[in-house]
Amino acid sequence: MTEFNIDKLVRENIKNLEPYSSARSEFTGEASVFLDANENAFGSPLDENFHRYPDPLQWQLKVDLSKIKGVPPQNIFIGNGSDEVIDLAYRIFCEPGMDNVIICPPTYGMYKVGADINNIEAREVNLTGDFQLDVEGVLSAVDEKTKLLFICSPNNPTGNNMDRMDVEFLLNNFSGIVIIDEAYINYSRQKPFIQELTEYENLIVMHTLSKAWGLAALRLGLGFASEKIIDLFNKVKPPYNINQASQQLGIKALANIAEVNEHIKIIVEQRSLLQQQLSEFDFIKKVYPSDSNFFLVKTDNANKLYQYLLAHQIIVRNRTKEPLCENCIRITIGTPAENETLIKTLKNYA
Ligand SMILES: *Cc1c(COP(=O)(O)O)cnc(C)c1O
Repeated sequence: MTEFNIDKLVRENIKNLEPYSSARSEFTGEASVFLDANENAFGSPLDENFHRYPDPLQWQLKVDLSKIKGVPPQNIFIGNGSDEVIDLAYRIFCEPGMDNVIICPPTYGMYKVGADINNIEAREVNLTGDFQLDVEGVLSAVDEKTKLLFICSPNNPTGNNMDRMDVEFLLNNFSGIVIIDEAYINYSRQKPFIQELTEYENLIVMHTLSKAWGLAALRLGLGFASEKIIDLFNKVKPPYNINQASQQLGIKALANIAEVNEHIKIIVEQRSLLQQQLSEFDFIKKVYPSDSNFFLVKTDNANKLYQYLLAHQIIVRNRTKEPLCENCIRITIGTPAENETLIKTLKNYA
């Protein structure tokens, strides 16, 4: 068992950083006349409260999220998409040109892009043949400069959950930060790791409102972690990283959980139906099981199938160039009508 010490992981310049102090965060107490932030006091051409800077810490949105996720608001970070959570993790923990992280392809592309942007070495330890974590491979890739380990579960593009025992083993035996990306957790039978935050000091869990919540355009990505880690994220983020429109609309959407749950139910039903229908085509060599709102299929020729669907105005994701995904296509579950269009179109494919 390795000792976790967050001070050893955080970059020196971040430890010493004096964060930007915004106009609104400098006073405490009641106020009614705001002459501190050089805003236009008359208002905006829009009818809303858009002439004032938004709440830098998005408190109301966090309180509402807290009720849904069962995590206290002070353990929640909201980013401008999950992409911002990923980028901040690099900037807080990884010294450019020196440190490294571990990612497990085939997986979400932003982990590697984030590493490249920040000039961090990404050590790639491929998943096993059945798309599970190569636990020994991961541990042997770790050295004293390894700061982050990215685990995506359910994994994009393979759709499956990572074995919980493996994830727990890595949480217990890797002394850096483990980032578990649960973007697709609403479609999964897996118990979310956000319930384990008090168990693991080195855990960051990511969720997003872009998928099941249907709010991809608002850019609301979520990080859940210890208060110590959340405080670091708040220190380094741009002061107003979540704009007022996204905050207001996010709050409004969270009041409508029933509709979202209905969508999840239909998508999960449509997933089995579509998987069953696809498995009957002879050019589909394998339909992979999924705990997500998409699944992977192995075809006889992914490029050809992709081009055919494109010519019929149906866009899927060609993953043939990813490791372990030769001739694989990733298909997102659409509405019943869209899924039917896909099947009808494929019936004419030869
Ligand atoms: C779609 C997706 C996200 C969401 O990214 P946002 O920036 O929040 O829209 C995060 N992780 C994975 C694995 C995804 O597939």
